[in-house]
Parts: sequence; structure tokens; C-alpha cells
Amino acid sequence: MHIILGGTFDPVHFGHLRMTQEMLNRFPRAKVSLMPAAYPPHRPEPGASAQQRIEMLELVLGKYPQLTIDSRELNRTEPSYSVVTLREIRQELKDAGKADTCLVFLMGTDAFAKLNQWYQWQELINLTNILVVGRPSSELPREGEVADFYQKHALNSLEQLPHYSHGRVGFCQMPQLDISSTYIREQINQGFSPRFLLPDGILDYMNQYGLYGLNRKN
Ligand code: ATP
Ligand code: MG
Repeated sequence: MHIILGGTFDPVHFGHLRMTQEMLNRFPRAKVSLMPAAYPPHRPEPGASAQQRIEMLELVLGKYPQLTIDSRELNRTEPSYSVVTLREIRQELKDAGKADTCLVFLMGTDAFAKLNQWYQWQELINLTNILVVGRPSSELPREGEVADFYQKHALNSLEQLPHYSHGRVGFCQMPQLDISSTYIREQINQGFSPRFLLPDGILDYMNQYGLYGLNRKN
């Protein structure tokens, strides 16, 4: 079982990190990767450089070997479409004789609600499972294309997930943390400290490089 959390991680925070731990608590033998995006076509360009976002992830994940960083999208020059990346990962698994591996693409309800804006979004389910995690201020869509998609591919119970290599969409409830990178950047912008929303080591790094307008002297 391979669980992937894609995002911009600009910066990585306890919302992301707790999600990955909740996954390990449920699926202790899973490999969990955080996969930073290079240039998401549906969002403005991130505030920290690709290199800095990777370094922040390395800083926090270095001591947790079950959590790995997949930096493939940052090594590409073209925009990173999830469907293209997942196709590549599927092919790699096939080549390694592990075609049946259960792949899980993890995302918050806010990201899932806009899934139909993603490039070739309906193709995703032929490559991976999707696991949606509740996030404050957003819900599973009740109607529309994405709601229909959820209905069509709905997973019966989370315990069944490892039995599917792809093709299912599940929902996973966990304690919700109302933390976002946007809020962290906004706090900094307003001159407030983002402390306790993300690991201290990340905040130290942000200070060191004056990221997001942080005063280098702090
Ligand atoms: P930004 O505010 O810049 O969009 P973010 O906090 O949403 O940043 P992303 O890197 O965009 O972080 O998130 C990557 C993935 O993690 C998305 O699928 C998002 O829904 C999910 N996610 C991020 N934070 C949380 C959280 N606190 N709870 C649940 N899901 C989250
Ligand atoms: Mg986001």
C-alpha cells in the first residue's frame, strides 16, 4: 500500500503532518509519501522556491523513515499534472512486478470538491484510489459532477481499501485541524507569529531565509 499526499507545502504544517500520521495509525505497513507540486496549473505560483519547500519537508521528515518525500514533480520542467505523475508511478510499479499495489491519493475535502477542474480528472480513478479527509470550512460535495463521481466509486469501508489497487473513493474522518499554509502566510503578513501551527524547526528555517516576508532578525 502506497499513500501519497500531494500539495504545495508552502509551508508544510501540522495539518499535513497529522494526516500522514493518521494514515500510518490505520495502515501501519503503508509507505506514505509527501509529493510537492512544481507548478500547479490551477493555483498561483507558491511563495517559497521549490528547493526551499523540499528543504522544509526534509527538515521535518528526516527522522521519520516511514514518511518519504517524492520530489519527482519538482524535477520536471512542465506543469505537474497529478494524472501524469500517477501514470508514471503506476508504470514504475508494473515494471517492478508490483502492478497490484494499492495506491491511495490523499486529499482534503477542499481539494476534492474542485477535482473536476483537474486535468483529465476522470482518468485518476483508473490509476489510484482517492481518500478524502475532512477539512474545516469545506464538505464533501452533495451534488454535481464530483458528487456523482464519489457515488459511483464509493468505498464501503476503510478496512477494504488495501484490497483495491485503484478505483475507489473513500472518506476518512479524523480530528480536523483548522490550519492552512494560507493562514500561516497571512499571519506572518500581518506581523503575527505562526508558532504552534507548524514545527519549530520549520519556523526557524523560514526565519533564517526570511520566507513569506518574515523578518530575518526574528
Ligand atoms: P494553501 O493554503 O496554500 O492552499 P494548504 O494548507 O491547503 O495550503 P496544500 O499544500 O494546498 O496545503 O495541501 C495539500 C493537501 O493537503 C490538499 O489536499 C489539502 O486539502 C490537504 N490539507 C492541507 N491542510 C489540511 C488540513 N488542515 N486538514 C485536512 N487536509 C488538509
Ligand atoms: Mg491548499
